[in-house]
Amino acid sequence: MKININENYKNLKESYLFSETARRIREYSAKNPDKKVIKLSIGDVTLPLTKSVISAMHEAVDEMADKDTFRGYAPEYGYDFLREAVANYYSTFGVTVAPDEIFCSDGAKSDVGNITDIFGDNEILIPDPVYPVYMDSNIMNGRKITLIKASEENGFLPMPDGIAEKPYIIYICSPNNPTGAVYSREQLKIWVDFALKSGSLIIFDSAYEAYIKEDYPRSIFEIEGSRECCIEICSLSKTAGFTGTRCAWTVVPQELSAGDTKIAKLWARRQATKFNGIPYVVQKGALAAISPEGHKEAMECVDYYMGNAKIIAELLDRKGIWYTGGINSPYIWLKCPNGMGSWEFFDWLLENAQIAGTPGAGFGEAGEGFFRLTSFGSREATLEAIERLEKLL
Ligand code: PLP
Repeated sequence: MKININENYKNLKESYLFSETARRIREYSAKNPDKKVIKLSIGDVTLPLTKSVISAMHEAVDEMADKDTFRGYAPEYGYDFLREAVANYYSTFGVTVAPDEIFCSDGAKSDVGNITDIFGDNEILIPDPVYPVYMDSNIMNGRKITLIKASEENGFLPMPDGIAEKPYIIYICSPNNPTGAVYSREQLKIWVDFALKSGSLIIFDSAYEAYIKEDYPRSIFEIEGSRECCIEICSLSKTAGFTGTRCAWTVVPQELSAGDTKIAKLWARRQATKFNGIPYVVQKGALAAISPEGHKEAMECVDYYMGNAKIIAELLDRKGIWYTGGINSPYIWLKCPNGMGSWEFFDWLLENAQIAGTPGAGFGEAGEGFFRLTSFGSREATLEAIERLEKLL
């Protein structure tokens, strides 16, 4: 063929983190068939969908079987019942958003990736280490990316100090993947003030808001001034076990505009053109997941994972190992002991304790020397891993 391709794709780094960890685990297991490897690297939920969600989805399936209740294309932004329920969900933690500001979709990953469509050639600010989709979706569009270094010194919560005051698109994820660190109200207020002063937009990823137990903001819209400079992307993946079921939303406030163009109008146009809605059955499941009963059930799953996180965090406390996360997040981000590098620690842990985690360096250069453990495994596996680590560390 003689067509031109998007040359920006050539600037993407090979995404080898999870394939490389899987390869090393496979290789180890092949050499040591009698040793059981425990995966504290699982980035997916493991508990099934809850009773309320399953029964709502069953009912919806039956409706699809009947000529009178069958549904075809769903509205591009979600059925009104779901947009209203999401607005109501926000009100349970004191945030007011209107149903028409909520755009439901098949995932936060899709929205994070697709939102770049509606913006021009802006400079992008992304924390390092980071959820890789922020970076890669902007590389695909050829945008100039500036990394903001997260580190032990700033508790993996970088702030805008020293950043030139000009318009950026800024990505913030709190509670963070991979570091588990959570921004306080005061810190987010500083970011919002910076965005307002510099004419920037913040894309706030709140995919892990349901894991917040202490007094931290669950939504950027808890922060004064945020409606003039923020978009929020949230998901039911980790909140309600929807990783395989797919339902998320993006909140675009009506106040948000660039010059005289309303951002909500652009996003609506983008979605209406390129997205054809979430399946009715899934939307009914999502409605059940954020109903009072469904949410209670979902929180039981979250509490189970957070019980695992606590067990891991307490071990690190006992061993005096520095970490972030684990209290308001399913992720625990620890400093590799004895100055080991991320991959060195990965191999050492696999060899000596048959435990697999994720090397921090795989999430960005600033992740070197750090390591991610997750709490999505079973309680039994987590306890067994802790027993092994207790002896080893
Ligand atoms: N945002 C962050 C920070 C994530 O960690 C993930 C999934 O791991 C997503 C978004 C993607 O969520 P979804 O399953 O809704 O696409």
